[in-house]
Amino acid sequence: MTSRIALTDDQARVCREAVELFGRRHQIIKVVEELRELADELYKAAHGGDTSLERIVDERADVAIMLYQLDEILIPSVAGLVPFRIPAKIDKLKKHMEVADGGRG
Ligand SMILES: [Mg+2]
Repeated sequence: MTSRIALTDDQARVCREAVELFGRRHQIIKVVEELRELADELYKAAHGGDTSLERIVDERADVAIMLYQLDEILIPSVAGLVPFRIPAKIDKLKKHMEVADGGRG
């Protein structure tokens, strides 16, 4: 199980080389920047602001690339634990949905 969007071997190599070239700290900052850019576009979309599907897709692709690099940066034992946290997070989401849906039967 993986939370990653699949990259080709060549794309994955480029991501690893980017971490090597630019450094872990720089790429972690880039992760935050790209997450913020996606959040901004989604916020605009949700509030009728000036955005487009193309911009959202672009930012989502940026985030996929940066999350791949984040998984490369995190020590394997940390990145490897993420899938094991997903079931508890999904259970929490399901409970939240049940509460939200409670009034509708
Ligand atoms: Mg971007």
